[in-house]
Amino acid sequence: MTSKLAPLSASKVKISVRPENERNQPIKNEDLIFGKDFTNHMLTVNWDNKQGWHAPEIKPYGNLSLDPSTCVFHYAFELFEGLKAYKSLKNEKDIIMFRPDKNMERMNKSSDRICLPTFESEELIKLIEELIKLDKDMIPKGKGYSLYIRPTMIGTSEGLGVHTPDKAMIFVICSPVGPYYKTGFKAVSLEATDYATRAWPGGVGDKKLGANYAPCIKPQLEAAKRGHQQNLWLFGPNKNITEVGTMNVFFALKNSQTGKKELVTAPLDGTILEGVTRDSVLALCRENLDPAEWEVNERYLSIDEVKERAAKGELIEAFGSGTAAVVSPIKNISYQSEDISVPLQEGKQSGKLTEDVMKWISDIQYGITEKANWTKVF
Ligand SMILES: *Cc1c(COP(=O)(O)O)cnc(C)c1O
Repeated sequence: MTSKLAPLSASKVKISVRPENERNQPIKNEDLIFGKDFTNHMLTVNWDNKQGWHAPEIKPYGNLSLDPSTCVFHYAFELFEGLKAYKSLKNEKDIIMFRPDKNMERMNKSSDRICLPTFESEELIKLIEELIKLDKDMIPKGKGYSLYIRPTMIGTSEGLGVHTPDKAMIFVICSPVGPYYKTGFKAVSLEATDYATRAWPGGVGDKKLGANYAPCIKPQLEAAKRGHQQNLWLFGPNKNITEVGTMNVFFALKNSQTGKKELVTAPLDGTILEGVTRDSVLALCRENLDPAEWEVNERYLSIDEVKERAAKGELIEAFGSGTAAVVSPIKNISYQSEDISVPLQEGKQSGKLTEDVMKWISDIQYGITEKANWTKVF
């Protein structure tokens, strides 16, 4: 039925550039604030259920104009992605995108879940490349610096009826960003949260829908009142650990009898966002860690197990993972008003594995080491 609709096609793109004298100039590295400034151009592609995907447009960054009855404003027909482009530290001229195919795959799963149109992943990647090349002078250089890319899709049907949108739009905006932690790592304190639930079985916690995020701010403010930066989201009667804030979460544990170590993260059971960083951490740890010493497991881990193992000295370290920070070390978890202290290296703000994982991933992102099929260089 959908086969008559036009596919998304990068070759149909219409480009209109912002006049040279009206352009924002590149921002100094030290002045970058996450998600505050944007490049000079954006990408938009409209879709409707008669024609399919229209010709993509790359044009000066600017406001969207939408009727107040548009369905995105009322029923949250919105989903997004987050990925980055890096200036290679090896070949000055190269721009590197990290695993964009994974983001496109996830974006299509999100759109399908809320009855928005799917699209040809390769074509959107080509369009994002075009967009980035046009503003390449605004990609900051240096370790920790990158261009954050925010592909978004919204339903643009007008009217208050609740139904499948007959119109939609993809837009992509880009923001030059600096390191998440300006002066190396800064380990965070978490509040284990069981009174509010981020995601549940049969829900949409595994999709990057805007509707998942607004309800998580209030619990974060509650945690902040008690001195903690983020929520450690628990789920179910066993109080299994799911995610931290808007990141996936990893725990390193040691069996004091056998000496064997284990890296654990929650399994993808529909309540966990399928992080590209999570997948990368798992793959690199399975490749780089000695299996005689380490096991890498996707399994349920309850907060009570963490508490017990910490008391026995078996908790080695813990970190969150996501595109913005890559990894974010954890130093403390408050659970039922008691603190579980997470070890850090002597005089440092992270564990050893956290540090290694950061290096393995960022070396690939900045072109220092190569990993087949994980980067798109242009
Ligand atoms: C985006 C996101 C992540 C991390 O995904 P990455 O692809 O690694 O950036 C984890 N959890 C939630 C809830 C997210 O929204």
